[in-house]
Amino acid sequence: MSCQENNSSPMRVLVTGGSGLVGRAIHQVVTEEGGAKDGEEWIFLSSRDANLMNKEETKAVFEKHKPTHVIHLAAMVGGLFKNMKFNLDFWRNNIHINDNVLQAAHEVGVVKVVSCLSTCIFPDKTTYPIDETMIHNGPPHDSNFGYAYAKRMIDVHNRAYFQQYGRCYTAVIPTNVFGPHDNFSIEDGHVLPGLIHKVYLAQKGGTPLVVWGSGSPRRQFIYSLDLARLFLWVLREYPEVDPIILSVGEKDEVSIKEAAEAVVQSLDFKGEVVVSFGNYSVLSQNEYLAL
Ligand code: GDP
Repeated sequence: MSCQENNSSPMRVLVTGGSGLVGRAIHQVVTEEGGAKDGEEWIFLSSRDANLMNKEETKAVFEKHKPTHVIHLAAMVGGLFKNMKFNLDFWRNNIHINDNVLQAAHEVGVVKVVSCLSTCIFPDKTTYPIDETMIHNGPPHDSNFGYAYAKRMIDVHNRAYFQQYGRCYTAVIPTNVFGPHDNFSIEDGHVLPGLIHKVYLAQKGGTPLVVWGSGSPRRQFIYSLDLARLFLWVLREYPEVDPIILSVGEKDEVSIKEAAEAVVQSLDFKGEVVVSFGNYSVLSQNEYLAL
């Protein structure tokens, strides 16, 4: 579905979730790498500026800044443990945030919105290679269905805003993002910041590095600053309502074992590396909830 935005004046871009991993990368590209064009204005919102779960506060912040374009990154996020325990909160909070943001954008006349989805929205049982046409083909993984369905519904919003009002609201689906200002929490963060933190502790304590799982799952990692540059391209050039996957190529996919080796090498870790199967990746949801 191709859409055409009507806006010739310089953009005023509002970024929700502007203080997170991707938001700060976009800030860096815009302010330090000349990513912003002359006359453009960029506003980065954080949770301190408005509670986007609240409809009135969301409307007020949009009326205050009157953006022409929006990059929507804000979401309730968390690691797998938190997701498994609070599926209802992830569903409701994210549905509210997304509905408030997209409707406020529509009401103040925003011509383009680029929202951020996640690869976890894809069906649990799928064929490979995965592409953008497959996101509604079957239920997502059971562990974080609340978050995954809420994110999927952004695509429903986007199609409906286009159908009813001709709005150019779209979404991107990044693969596993890493970079400066990542979440380095071992329990709650993703694998690269988690491993970096664990190597730091192992180096300090003279203990082994424990890598969770078999090491054989494969991931496509994308550096947050590369993703930020691609976000700008989507905002300026991508003319579709349909979401687009932002990833490295398939040949650059790496196993968790290779990712762990890269972290070990970069940090010059000389200690022992062990794999552990006693982590969440081998617990079923029921087993975890029974802990
Ligand atoms: P995903 O890409 O959304 O599945 O999330 P992650 O980045 O958290 O995890 C990817 C894989 O890395 C899983 O198979 C984990 O078992 C494995 N893994 C190995 N060590 C770690 C670690 O220290 N932290 C995390 N989060 N995952 C790890």
